Amino acid sequence: MKKILVSECLYGGRAVRYDGAEKACDHPVFRKWKKQGRLIPVCPEILGGLPVPREEAQLQGDQVITRSGNDVTENYVRGAEEALRIATEKDVICCVMKEGSPSCGSSEIHDGSFTGTKIPGEGLATGYLRACGFEVFSEEEIEDAAAFVAANER
Ligand code: SF4
Repeated sequence: MKKILVSECLYGGRAVRYDGAEKACDHPVFRKWKKQGRLIPVCPEILGGLPVPREEAQLQGDQVITRSGNDVTENYVRGAEEALRIATEKDVICCVMKEGSPSCGSSEIHDGSFTGTKIPGEGLATGYLRACGFEVFSEEEIEDAAAFVAANER
């Protein structure tokens, strides 16, 4: 049974988000995968050396900038590289990542203005994973992810 890389905040059980909030995914398929032990939780931002809680950050072009203006791009890049390393090492079949995050978003991200405005785009870790051929779904696309797994697992 092939493994699936998932955002650790979706997996639950450990505070990893910038604000420490709980965001565990309650979808029955996700819960079944978790019970089967096929999920590999990763938090790119923790892997990149950032603490909990941490200042909110958003993508501004190629850089990741916190609300107060600190450039944390290096941490985000390190976390994205580490998430990719784990996905490759574990030979995961696909990934399910938290939508909207500057690391894990897969179809939309915040626009960098800290006004709650979202734009089409992907987070850094998702970009690294996709660039190396991994299929990335969001927690809103669990059914699509399940269909992908069924079609590609032999
Ligand atoms: S970096 Fe990804 S896994 Fe970590 S808290 Fe943000 S969305 Fe969740």
